[in-house]
Amino acid sequence: MQIRGQGFSMRIGYGWDSHEFKRGIPLKIGGVEIAHDKGLGGHSDGDVLLHAITDALLGAVAAPDIGTLFSPSDSRWKGADSAVFLAEALRRVKSAGYKIVNVDSTLVLAAPKIGPHAAAIRESVSHLTAVPPDCIGIKAKTPEGMGTDNAAIAHVVVLLEMVSSPKTRKSNKKQRS
Ligand SMILES: [Zn+2]
Repeated sequence: MQIRGQGFSMRIGYGWDSHEFKRGIPLKIGGVEIAHDKGLGGHSDGDVLLHAITDALLGAVAAPDIGTLFSPSDSRWKGADSAVFLAEALRRVKSAGYKIVNVDSTLVLAAPKIGPHAAAIRESVSHLTAVPPDCIGIKAKTPEGMGTDNAAIAHVVVLLEMVSSPKTRKSNKKQRS
């Protein structure tokens, strides 16, 4: 691993999110609409996976979290496409001088089964993040013994690699030891 300036050239980020299932709204996971009798409630489109990916990316570059950048009390984000939040996180990753190496995720939900949709979700996340599909993990588990059968939970980790020194760090170069 290369060490540049005062820090490592790689960053890790972790994101977590949960939303409650509600009847009468579409279910969107990873930007894919999945046929189901309930969708995920929330101020935006409730896309639990895109929210966790967004927070993982923001965390990796020590940016404010998704709830701070896109306040649920702000009417601009009512029913918003969560791809908008992800795009802002990607912009911040790029301006910090990093690119995504890989994304891994675990969804925890009782239903619907994610297996039949995993390939479509992987393709969608690949399209939204410009990361190759073979660098995106989409895993799912049922919430055994957790009592969260009416919720969808997403855990995400991302690895970032420095591709260019951001302008604000150039002054640190002379401090290399
Ligand atoms: Zn969320």
